[in-house]
Amino acid sequence: SEPPRPSASFVVVGGGIAGVTCAEQLAITFPSEDILLITASPVIKAVTNFKQVSKVLEEFDVEEQPSSMLENRLPNIRVIESGVKQLKSEEHCIFTEDGRQHAYKKLCLCAGAKPKLISEGNPYVLGIRDTDSAQEFQKRLTKAKRIMIIGNGGIALELVYEIEGCEVIWAIKDKAIGNTFFDAGAAEFLTSKLISKKSEARIAQKRTRYTVGGSKKEARTKAESESVGSALGPDWHEGLALKGAEEFSHSIHIETACEVKKLYLQEEFKKTEKQSVAFPKAHHGKSVTTDEETWPVYVELTSGKIYGCDFLVSATGVTPNVEPFLQGNNFDLGEDGGLRVDDQMRTSLPDVYAAGDICTACWEPSPVWQQMRLWTQARQMGWYAAKCMAAATLGESIDMDFSFELFAHVTKFFNYKVVLLGKYNAQGLGANHELMLRCTRGQEYVKAIMQNGRMMGAVLIGETDLEETFENLILNQMDLSPYGKDLLDPNIDIEDYFD
Ligand SMILES: Cc1cc2nc3c(=O)[nH]c(=O)nc-3n(C[C@H](O)[C@H](O)[C@H](O)COP(=O)(O)OP(=O)(O)OC[C@H]3O[C@@H](n4cnc5c(N)ncnc54)[C@H](O)[C@@H]3O)c2cc1C
Repeated sequence: SEPPRPSASFVVVGGGIAGVTCAEQLAITFPSEDILLITASPVIKAVTNFKQVSKVLEEFDVEEQPSSMLENRLPNIRVIESGVKQLKSEEHCIFTEDGRQHAYKKLCLCAGAKPKLISEGNPYVLGIRDTDSAQEFQKRLTKAKRIMIIGNGGIALELVYEIEGCEVIWAIKDKAIGNTFFDAGAAEFLTSKLISKKSEARIAQKRTRYTVGGSKKEARTKAESESVGSALGPDWHEGLALKGAEEFSHSIHIETACEVKKLYLQEEFKKTEKQSVAFPKAHHGKSVTTDEETWPVYVELTSGKIYGCDFLVSATGVTPNVEPFLQGNNFDLGEDGGLRVDDQMRTSLPDVYAAGDICTACWEPSPVWQQMRLWTQARQMGWYAAKCMAAATLGESIDMDFSFELFAHVTKFFNYKVVLLGKYNAQGLGANHELMLRCTRGQEYVKAIMQNGRMMGAVLIGETDLEETFENLILNQMDLSPYGKDLLDPNIDIEDYFD
């Protein structure tokens, strides 16, 4: 049969931050070309209010928009709301659920990642990925007296802090909380905040707006059934009242160094004649639940303890969403299951690029950069992938973008501003490094990771105002040994040193 006529030179798959940024950049670079954006979700994610805070630190809002807004903004972008079910890379053609096929000259895959669930198909195990799953979670929470959160990454951290009026058992496999982001010292700094009472006047820092109401009804239902919405981003819990059934603030019990061994439904559990343990008495004294309570689901931990709860939240990381693209294509995959991409964001297959959560960065990275599946990197990769696709089309060469020189992430945990720079957890530095620390309880936590007198990374919690200086010190790899402890002395304005 005759090959399909190219419907667009450039096709981008995925309406998350990576895909939308890539399509926008291509549309701007090639104003007379049609850019096709194919996405399974009825809304797209747009970056708004982008602000370059310093050389590499950036801040922006993320807005869910109907795809028509993107098409209106950039008339040479055409959005197709349909999931990709197959890629025939040799024929340069992709097939969508709606029965259509689309040929491409260059393709960028930005289909994101899916939450890893500790148990598939169990109605009492929830994963949170998109607006729909977050709302489902909120609905279930209003009736819940006790839930269990599994996982120790950013999502778990935020949930634990935001949930009120419900007992929370937080099971983590590490010794300290938040090990994806922190060392034990920072964890301890934050834990004290978790246990102290939340202040009434919570600082509402709004960076994300979700305008779900504006989306098309039929499309929504479809996306729900396929469960392939885009991932939520910063402040995803903003606007969702995460309140359980009871009237109190925090009631958290942390179970460290354990994993889930087995789940039992109520009936199943009764038959085992095993005993569940009561919720350890909360700091505010009153216990909401009793030992006699029966629960819909029981969780046996590897520590041997069994807790009953209304449901579990599985927040144990994500798996790149590569599945729809694999059949018949010989992609090189990274250890984490993502599509391997080189320093030009190319996968192992000709004319197929990838960006965002779906890919695994396999270039030789800068000594102070690492991939993390985050909002900012999705944007940077989407932007850079478009640049690379354009350069390849025009026969030009392109250097790695500056944003990959230094890992930089700014976020909020437990209402503290948190800035992570470079090898903030001494990742891959071996034993040959030292830490410099400054901590004021309840106020700030500053840690610098030093190697051979050079700063390799930093964790800044609170309003430290050090991010720009530290960013420069990590980037320029200046020998800081002459400054010794002055570097973190709060009475010395180190900015003056280096200006
Ligand atoms: C609950 C939660 C909280 C988070 N909090 C933060 C945070 O505070 N800060 C931060 O930096 N990061 C956070 N992240 C991570 C961040 O959301 C992701 O790194 C980022 O959204 C990845 O963007 P992406 O464009 O690669 O993928 P996604 O945003 O997941 O977008 C993927 C797109 O592909 C589409 N798609 C999927 N399959 C198909 C298919 N077969 N065919 C067509 N289209 C398809 C989807 O519909 C979607 O539009 C959080 C993630 C979650 C789940």
